[in-house]
Amino acid sequence: MMRIVLVFSLLLIHRTALPKIPISIDGQSVVTTIQIGVQASVVEIYAAEELQIWINRLTETKPPIITTNQLHSTPTLISIGIPQSSPEVRKRLDLPINLGNEGYRIKSFEDENRIMVGAHSANGVLYGCYHLLELMVSEHTGLTTADLDFIFSPRPNLALSPIDQRSQPFYPVRAVLEVNDPDWLARHRINMSGGEGIWNGTGIDDGLGTAFQYVDAARFELFQDLTGQERRQQIETLRNRFDLLRRRGIDSYLFMYVTGEPTEALIRNRPQLLGQPVPYGGSRNGVSYKPLCWSKPELHQLVAELVQEIVVTYPTLSGFHLRCWGYETRSCQDCPQCGGQSEAGQKMLWKLMFTVIQASRKVRPDFKFYISGYDRFWLKDPDGSYAARLPQGTIFSQKWGYDGEPSDQPNLSPKLLSRLGGLKHRLIILSHEVEEVMPLWMVEGDLFVNGVRRFPTTHPQPGLAGFTVQGAEVGLGQLDRLLSARINWNPKLDHLQLMRDFLTNRYQVESAGLILKSLRISGWALSNYFTDYAGTLTVTGQYGKGSAGFATRFWDIIGQSAVTDIFSIPDEQQADYAVNRLAGLLPQMQEASNLANMALAKINPVNVETTYNLKDTQRLLQMWTAFFESRLSLAEAVQLGYKGGKVHQVQDKLNSAIEYTRSMVPLIRSIGQFVPVFGYSRLTIETSLVEKLTAEVALIDNFAPETIMHQIDAYALNQAELKISGPLNFPNPLKDKTTFTYQLSRTVDDVSISIYTKSGRLICRVQDCSSRKGYNEQEWDGRDWNGSRLANGVYFYKILVKDDGDQLQAYGRLAILR
Ligand SMILES: [Zn+2]
Repeated sequence: MMRIVLVFSLLLIHRTALPKIPISIDGQSVVTTIQIGVQASVVEIYAAEELQIWINRLTETKPPIITTNQLHSTPTLISIGIPQSSPEVRKRLDLPINLGNEGYRIKSFEDENRIMVGAHSANGVLYGCYHLLELMVSEHTGLTTADLDFIFSPRPNLALSPIDQRSQPFYPVRAVLEVNDPDWLARHRINMSGGEGIWNGTGIDDGLGTAFQYVDAARFELFQDLTGQERRQQIETLRNRFDLLRRRGIDSYLFMYVTGEPTEALIRNRPQLLGQPVPYGGSRNGVSYKPLCWSKPELHQLVAELVQEIVVTYPTLSGFHLRCWGYETRSCQDCPQCGGQSEAGQKMLWKLMFTVIQASRKVRPDFKFYISGYDRFWLKDPDGSYAARLPQGTIFSQKWGYDGEPSDQPNLSPKLLSRLGGLKHRLIILSHEVEEVMPLWMVEGDLFVNGVRRFPTTHPQPGLAGFTVQGAEVGLGQLDRLLSARINWNPKLDHLQLMRDFLTNRYQVESAGLILKSLRISGWALSNYFTDYAGTLTVTGQYGKGSAGFATRFWDIIGQSAVTDIFSIPDEQQADYAVNRLAGLLPQMQEASNLANMALAKINPVNVETTYNLKDTQRLLQMWTAFFESRLSLAEAVQLGYKGGKVHQVQDKLNSAIEYTRSMVPLIRSIGQFVPVFGYSRLTIETSLVEKLTAEVALIDNFAPETIMHQIDAYALNQAELKISGPLNFPNPLKDKTTFTYQLSRTVDDVSISIYTKSGRLICRVQDCSSRKGYNEQEWDGRDWNGSRLANGVYFYKILVKDDGDQLQAYGRLAILR
């Protein structure tokens, strides 16, 4: 007993007596040396340089980097490396096998002021060094969960307590699909970048048909749209970027639509490779798209040569991201061989995929592939036989939720997961996408973490390889990026602590708590709203449409079509649902907004940028509050219409909606930073949002309340004076098609819409238009009698209503702009 007590107290004494390891001491220029193996790889060297840079930022002293062959003369030594490159790590650091490929161990040896960071792979070493730096930032800032994204000023004294830590990633693929800062990616332990090259999301300039621009070989000169100089510049930029990524242990995947629209030069010089034009407004000429004909052996030959040249041109490129999704994946539909999405067409598309894969791997047998859009609209693979033929380790992806909406339901298909997992492929989930609210940002981290934790966190599910890192780079949307990077590494992470510390670092502890609460409440409220919107039953009333197949953006939930959505709520029950739903969400958004106001009143911000970010947060939440107020007023107007409300009551609700929508305009104008979606400028974003809100106000203003009054008896219905109101069309100006909307005071026998030139020449008439009492809409494809697309310009239209001998007409003006 005595002995035990003695040992215990000795240990205790020893423990308290243990000195901290100095990294920097006031008055001494250099206290620490960084040591790497003589054979250190580029990634290990990069890790040492990162330690050097960050210790310098923290302490304003710059530790030298030496190799294991050199002697060090400072009190403290940090040795890093893998056993193969560093004899020190090999001899002194026990690295368990189960540390995995990218795990690491950090251990301090207090008696000799030494810290060692070791791993089985160079990536592990890099991640271990970041962990070590995070411990230093923690020590420096006093916040328990640290991150290198913290804001701090240098301090001359820094010492670390004893360390013995090991960590390893939970998910093997930690991916981003955008072109991001390589330093940020490395610091957040990302190992795959899937959006490299040109990604404009159109299939023009980012498809296989235009991939000639990535190479500079004479034999492709005939297919080039860019000049040699433009291309060489681009190649140089891309090469440098792939090198930067490789140096940070990140696999880069060159993005390509399969197949995308071909270059103009190819269309001109090798028309025999193309099929019949396919109508597509998003094409180069705005009319039709000339697809590559998948059935031609010459095309396969050319594609094989091209991808091989790409693989040779970029020695540090890891793989291709081949995307088969939506309109950009087009075949010649009328071609008997290709056949679009038919079974034969699918076969042809897969054949083309394998042409790309086999050709690339002939040059580099370890070349990798990431295939998005698998088994959705294209690339059907009902029995998994195509997946079985793909190189093992191919990465696939699926969207989060129903359509990437803010939700805590990733909606992962177990069938797909087990199919791909069984074949040793990997599935990544395109995690929560801010796309739903773009160009605004929101913090969905809370929902995301809840969703991720639905999967077992004891051991990974076979096939489930990770969640992509998403989130805005502006405003407090940064929190999402931080979280989604970290939760991939450790799903048990205390995400609230991480967010709170991030905010505390910027706004001090009191405001941080208020901001966090505010963001979480608004996140859940918006999630509820968008979950309805993405499904079939929507609070805006677009019944059956929702955002299915479309990533709904903020642009889509404001403006004339969004308002007419609400007016088209088909019955009293659904009107009640919409009103209850919105009435439930509104107070939540009000609370979130109030909390942001309180936080702003209390802040002690670190710098100008953090103040701007919080002001933006406040305006955003005020804007969402006004938005819900406006939608609730509209839904209440519709509800009154079903419940026999009076005209003036309905009109009051419409007026109130107008006020709330109007109040959103100055808020939009005062928001400092939007998410720069599609490369739009701030001005473009602001202008387009304000235009939509203004159009929305105009529509409600011109709306005849009688048209949503349903509680009029049959006699009154028949006797109602024939009236037509609010003829409008949207979009206007139109590119491909437009929808006419009008309200009728009673159901009529016949409605037609005639379109005239400015000089009054009739060029087209749409017969048998919608003719019911209330709100009507009628689509028009922008074509004349002959089916030809009309030229740009201003046109007039006449809506002619005939009923029981009565006849009435209304006029409107539209513009075509392509
Ligand atoms: Zn064809």
